[in-house]
Amino acid sequence: MYDPSQMARFAREAARLADASKFAEQARRAAEAAKHLDASKFAEQARRAAEAAKHLDVSKFAERARRAAEAAKHLDASKFAEQARRAAEAASRVDREQVVAEASRFTEQAQAAIRAAKNLAELERLRIEYLGRSSQLTEVKKLVRELPVEARPEVGGVANRASRDLEDAIKVRAEELAFIEREARLRAEAVDVTLPGVPYPKGSLHPSMRVVDEVVDFFVGLGYRVAEGPEVETDYYNFTALNIPPGHPARTMQDTFFLDEGLVLRTHTSPVQIRTMLSQEPPVYVVCPGRTYRRDSDPTHTPMFNQIEGLAVDRGITLSHLKGTLAAMARHVFGEDVKVRLRPSYFQFTEPSVELDVSCFVCGGSDPKCKVCKGAGWLEMLGAGMVDPAVLEEVGYDPEEYTGFAFGMGPDRMAMAKYGVADLRLFFEGDLRFLRQF
Ligand SMILES: [Zn+2]
Repeated sequence: MYDPSQMARFAREAARLADASKFAEQARRAAEAAKHLDASKFAEQARRAAEAAKHLDVSKFAERARRAAEAAKHLDASKFAEQARRAAEAASRVDREQVVAEASRFTEQAQAAIRAAKNLAELERLRIEYLGRSSQLTEVKKLVRELPVEARPEVGGVANRASRDLEDAIKVRAEELAFIEREARLRAEAVDVTLPGVPYPKGSLHPSMRVVDEVVDFFVGLGYRVAEGPEVETDYYNFTALNIPPGHPARTMQDTFFLDEGLVLRTHTSPVQIRTMLSQEPPVYVVCPGRTYRRDSDPTHTPMFNQIEGLAVDRGITLSHLKGTLAAMARHVFGEDVKVRLRPSYFQFTEPSVELDVSCFVCGGSDPKCKVCKGAGWLEMLGAGMVDPAVLEEVGYDPEEYTGFAFGMGPDRMAMAKYGVADLRLFFEGDLRFLRQF
């Protein structure tokens, strides 16, 4: 492997030629002096100088100087001085040529190494080696100023040209390597669009939400609007505005979660009806699905449960509208064959109040051992009634002009019946093995 320090060595030798030219000057002075001195004494001095020059490794010059010194014994000393000067010049020219040759060899080999660099990191290492502050080329440039004046432009030019050539070579190789590395990265990152996809786990609707959707879809189809309200309610909207004043025993019927500052977790979605009526004039046709809360926990009660309420207020609304609407809803959810019946009941905010049962959609009333209706043939479905005039008055509607009906149902209970689940608590325990069945 070629050692670039060679070039530096030649440069150093060229620098020493400065000493050689100095020697030539000394020789000239010695020759001058020799005019007045014994020539043999001068010859001895010249011989010693030549001897010294041998150690400077400018042997060619030394030889010439020796010959000149030899000749000086017989010749005019000034002629010798001239010869010594020429010899020094020749010596310096020879070395300059060597420097140029070395420089071009160095440049060629360095360029080859640069072209062979395998990556940008290796290229940077070569740049530091060839062009860095402690590189041979930098050292050569520093040595230029120690050269004889006439040698400086050429050697300096050679060094600068070498620098420029190497910088160019590095730039070209850097672009090539950047391209190669970019290509390799693109190949590595390539996406095979023909590979099969990763299956995405698909969820399913909660059984309660299926029933909620079916019921809400049905009412939206009739032209009802979906209304929603806060789950944390004021006492006023949850009780008082619904004809349940403070101290009314119905308040204890609904085991309520009381919060600070007269707030409660709503025990039903009825506050949404009040909020709706307070915010608009009749006619009102809304359906209100949402979560509600009561302090209950057994196989058919959970502290959180879903409710869907509906409200229709308009001129001329009667109980037959209520029955027809709910019968159609029951057929939509449980099938075309189900029958409905109304039983008298009591709620604080409707008068009259009814409960609506649907015929058992599993056995149709024919199986005394039916697990869904337990042989009764009927399933309790929901509570409903005509809106109490006191409630209409409370929200500023004229009960002489408007009437309405309201209903409320439990989609969780409906889902239990529909899917044959005995324990409501399973719905809300978050066990995916259970929920994935739906
Ligand atoms: Zn049945």
